[in-house]
Amino acid sequence: MTTAPGTASPGGRGTPGTPGHQDPHLPKRGMRVLVIEDEQPISRLVATYLERENFVVDVAGTGESGVDLARANQPDVIVLDLMLPGMDGIEACRQIRTFSDAYIIMLTARTDEVDRLIGLSVGADDYVTKPFSPRELVARVRAMLRRPRSSTLGVTAEPPRRFGELTIDTAAREAQLAGEPVELTRTEFDLLDTLSAAPRVAFSRRQLLEQVWGGDWYGDDHVIDVHIANLRHKLEDDPRAPRFVRTVRGVGYRMGEGR
Ligand code: CA
Repeated sequence: MTTAPGTASPGGRGTPGTPGHQDPHLPKRGMRVLVIEDEQPISRLVATYLERENFVVDVAGTGESGVDLARANQPDVIVLDLMLPGMDGIEACRQIRTFSDAYIIMLTARTDEVDRLIGLSVGADDYVTKPFSPRELVARVRAMLRRPRSSTLGVTAEPPRRFGELTIDTAAREAQLAGEPVELTRTEFDLLDTLSAAPRVAFSRRQLLEQVWGGDWYGDDHVIDVHIANLRHKLEDDPRAPRFVRTVRGVGYRMGEGR
């Protein structure tokens, strides 16, 4: 992966994990974007811009094929058009959310549709209104990928954090419970990463949203509770006496000592 020098696009500078000393023999997975859009001139333009920025791009022309490709290729980001023939963007988003934690950017035709979509809480992470400039869309994709606090490109080699039986390796983005790997979604890991980075801090739901989803997220704070419940379940954390993810009454959550 190379970073084009002098790229003036927003997000071109300060990209996390700019490779300085990476081993060229190690296969480095390129960030993958899936574009689901039936209007070929648009999908082609978007793909061209994304590929220019070194993303690996897949394109699907229908909701059905988009869902299949999302399952097969596990993209990091999905650009999803709302208006598709057959299965529409809302249904595609719902289906993708049942197996994927990819960031989803929804393309909509009108601004007032965005409010409606957020109300439906279909699980998209961001919205872009048509017509849009491909440059802006690429910037939004990059902004989205900057959201996780610990870069998936592995900038830091911080030693794993330990909380009793729980080990959190932020560089590898891995969690282990009593030596066994725990399968966490991206959002669950980001929540655990945020909490464990400052174990004495009680985070409000709003603060967690800002850390994990980014500051411009708006919607219901209690979406956090759903993810925390899933996280506790996977960490075998008893919600009545949690060891790892503690409830701070009237505030939100903080990391527990693991005892
Ligand atoms: Ca369309």
